Amino acid sequence: MSRKIFTIMTAAIISASLVACNGNNNKENNIVTEESTKINIVASINPLRDFAEAIGGDKVEVSILVPEGVEAHDYEPKARDIEKLAGADIFVYNGAGMESWLDQVLQTVANKKDLIKIDSSVGVNLLNTEGEEHHHEDGEEEDHNHGEFDPHIWLSLIEAKQQSLNIKEALIGIDQENKAYYEENYQDFIGKLDDLYGEYKEKFDTISNKYFITGHEAFGYLCRDFNLIQKAITGLRAEGEPTPQALKELVHLAEENNIKVVFTEEQAAPEVSKTIAREVGAKVEALYSIEVREEGMTYLEMMELNLERIYNALK
Ligand SMILES: [Zn+2]
Repeated sequence: MSRKIFTIMTAAIISASLVACNGNNNKENNIVTEESTKINIVASINPLRDFAEAIGGDKVEVSILVPEGVEAHDYEPKARDIEKLAGADIFVYNGAGMESWLDQVLQTVANKKDLIKIDSSVGVNLLNTEGEEHHHEDGEEEDHNHGEFDPHIWLSLIEAKQQSLNIKEALIGIDQENKAYYEENYQDFIGKLDDLYGEYKEKFDTISNKYFITGHEAFGYLCRDFNLIQKAITGLRAEGEPTPQALKELVHLAEENNIKVVFTEEQAAPEVSKTIAREVGAKVEALYSIEVREEGMTYLEMMELNLERIYNALK
């Protein structure tokens, strides 16, 4: 705990000294002004960066708070990460309990009154951890009770549209002049989400196999969209490994449902996927939770691969 407080204080001091530097140094100030012709967006996690880039286009500069390759559920903010927020115009976070460190970061930047904070989950039809639905309205407090909702809303092509809408509204809010530009990019982007959804809705509707095994319990929203059922090796936050009993049940489920492919994720007990696959003579294939950017792929590319692989495994 004391280390956390120290980290926050360090961040605050660094932010304060950055501001001081900018004010006192004309040369540096000019550089800052030049760069700041673009709207500076800091996104908490990878999918939000993609949405912001798609909608903001060349009017925005987007960076990500959770560093490249860091497991999003385990992340703890570092001073150098929070520093990124010192120069930000918009901070967009996932919400729905994804960022367990959110309050800590917001407290650190509380003195930055002009920072626009966007909860991308506002208006999203949330799943709670028991798989029940709940509509998230603006101003509700329960997303601060971490762990109450499944946070992986971006893995729904339908809810990704709502997240994108929230980002678009924020951009228009501070840059009215380019309203038409943002609207056009947004329509373009959600058109692609709709197309992908339509294509796979049709395909999944034709098959009777519904079960697939995943690395961590990230695909609840994807399952809701396409009427599928995930059985995960690790939990919502990719923590730990299954007990021998849980492992036995997964193997049993794989046998019962004639599962030919066991999915794996880089960050969620990949060895266990291999063990199950070996037991039942199945193949192992990767799925993307999209929490981190993998092999330079965009959100849409990873979503399409996810859907294609799940469909091929089930058909
Ligand atoms: Zn996750």
